[in-house]
Order: sequence, then structure tokens, then C-alpha cells
Amino acid sequence: MNILGIETSCDETSVAVVRDGSDVRSSIIASQADLHAKTGGVVPEVASRQHLEQMNAVIAEGLSVAGAAFQDIDAIAVANRPGLLGALLVGVSAAKALAYALRIPLVGVHHIEAHIYANWLVDPRIEFPVVCLVVSGGHTEIFLVRGHGDYQIIGRTRDDAAGEAFDKSARLLGVPYPGGVLIDKMARELHGNTQAVKLPRARLGADSFDFSFSGLKTAVANAVADPANADVAPQDWAASVQEAIVDVLVEKTIRAATANGARRVLLAGGVAANSRLNERMQAACNAAGLPMTAPPPVYCTDNAAMITCAGYYHLLAGRRDTLELDTLSSERLA
Ligand code: ATP
Ligand code: MG
Ligand code: FE
Repeated sequence: MNILGIETSCDETSVAVVRDGSDVRSSIIASQADLHAKTGGVVPEVASRQHLEQMNAVIAEGLSVAGAAFQDIDAIAVANRPGLLGALLVGVSAAKALAYALRIPLVGVHHIEAHIYANWLVDPRIEFPVVCLVVSGGHTEIFLVRGHGDYQIIGRTRDDAAGEAFDKSARLLGVPYPGGVLIDKMARELHGNTQAVKLPRARLGADSFDFSFSGLKTAVANAVADPANADVAPQDWAASVQEAIVDVLVEKTIRAATANGARRVLLAGGVAANSRLNERMQAACNAAGLPMTAPPPVYCTDNAAMITCAGYYHLLAGRRDTLELDTLSSERLA
């Protein structure tokens, strides 16, 4: 089954063609990051307009790279929630038009569920139950996944998301938008010292699986203003901030996996692209005797291949949406 997937929930216009849930035949991602760098963040109106301008060309490229024609597509999957409404509407409208014109099934997909399903692109044989750490621009959650579509929330952030912690700290350090990926690169390539700046880890009690990153932001602001840190090199700032975020993510995920009898640990969302998080989580999983899966970076940040993969499992389960399919700015997965 060839599914064409569309993702426009934030600032990536993306189209993918995936066969049978994991054979990615094309994955086109038109990022608006450069456009939004000028404003230091995503301006919703600008994002919607850009999606509109890119949509048809990205669909055409998705088909062309896959060597497919419209007639070769068996179903359409589209991210319809949660996200920026105006941005989602562009993708959903395109998806409806395609499904209607081609007389093929349409299925709406939850963006965060799709981030989780990026793992099934890599390994379609993952065995349940798994614990999945979702770390993205707007979400930080630990899920226990007991089967396809069966999510239980184990922990979540009480304030900022991990991606926000990266991006807001980056801004305080004068690192341009989107900051997370640059912090990772600076810390790694320039061998930043993780101990250079002392920063807090919010554990919220020994038994808690919840996160809190707003205190870190304040601590970074104070540390930047502190004359004692005047000589700290940029890569050492980057490594120290990154370590403070990664420490808590790793510790709580491993504890959640062990406490819930998970057979595997999965990473998902844009921050799952972080090389230090991958390295540290892999080491902790090895020590705990747990296998780990993480999507390659290109399937961690927003992309349509993950939408297509999640859509595949919904279609297998017999789910179909009508042309009434709605867009929602927020909806919890569990
Ligand atoms: P959500 O999925 O919650 O709706 P989003 O779609 O805007 O939010 P994603 O694309 O999943 O977010 O992730 C973007 C986030 O990932 C940004 O905060 C970005 O800084 C962060 N990010 C991307 N790559 C890295 C990296 N290598 N290291 C750390 N953070 C990263
Ligand atoms: Mg983005
Ligand atoms: Fe996302």
C-alpha cells in the first residue's frame, strides 16, 4: 500500500510517499527555518502563507522522487492535530482535495503520535510494551505504549518543553534560531566541557516522572549575567546547558521503563535528534539491559514520513476519515 503523507503543523512543509508503513520512497521537507530566523521564532501567519506557496510543489516533488504518479497512491494521511490552525489547514485542505479527486481513503493523524511512529519507520517489528520519551518543540512526555494506538502517560513537563529549554537557553547565549541543533553541534564538534557552568536539575521528588525546565532558563540567564562566567567559552556553555537537560531526560526515562516492565526504550520528537541525548540514553539502556530505538535525525524533527507511517497503522486498523476532517490546535494523546 502506497500512502502519501502531508505535514504542515508548524514550519515544515513536508510530503512523503511510503510503501507498507516503512519503505520510504520519498520524503521532502521544505523548512521555513531561515524565514523564521529573522523573527527569532515562528510567526503563524507567515508560516501558513509559506505552506500555501510551497504545498503543490512539494507534493509534485514527493511523487516525482518516489517515481510515482497520483494513480499509484492508495491513501492519504495528514497531520490534522495538534498544531498551528492556519498551518494545519493548508495540509488538510490539500489532503482532502487529493483524497476526493483520486477517490482514495483519507486519514487524519495526531502529530505527536506520528513523532512516536517515526520509530516504526526504522523498525516495524518493535515489540510492546515500550516506553517512549517524546521531546519536541512543544511537548515533553513519557508514554507507556502497550500496543498500536494504546498510550498511557507516565510523566510530562509541568512548564516548558525540552525543545523550548534548548531554544530559550540558546537565545540567552546569543545562539540563533533554531537553537537546539546549534547547541548540539557546538558542544560536540568543539568538545564543550559539560561541567563548565553549574546548572540545576529539577527532579521534582525521587518518584516523580514529571519534568520542569523553566528553572533552568532562569538559571542560564543568571549564569550569563554572572561576571564569574565571563571567560566561559561558547562550546562550554552549550555543553553545560545540554547536559543539564539530558541528565534529567535519561534518568526519568530509564526509571519509567524499568518501573513499567518496558521491553524497549524509544525516543521521539525534534530533541531526539540530539547526539548527546542519544549517546547518554544508549549507555543508560545498555547498563539497564534495555534495547533502545531512535529515529535518524531527519525523522526526529517534523517530517511527513512519520505521518504516513502512523496513518498506515490507522488504516490497517480500519480507520477512515471523511471530508469533514477537522483541524485542532491542541489535543492530548493520552
Ligand atoms: P511539537 O512536535 O511539540 O508540535 P515542533 O513540531 O515545533 O513541536 P519538532 O520539530 O518536533 O517540534 O522539534 C523541534 C525542536 O527540536 C526545536 O526545539 C529544536 O531546537 C529541537 N531540536 C532539533 N534538533 C535538535 C538537536 N540536535 N538537539 C537539541 N534540540 C534539537
Ligand atoms: Mg520546525
Ligand atoms: Fe513536531
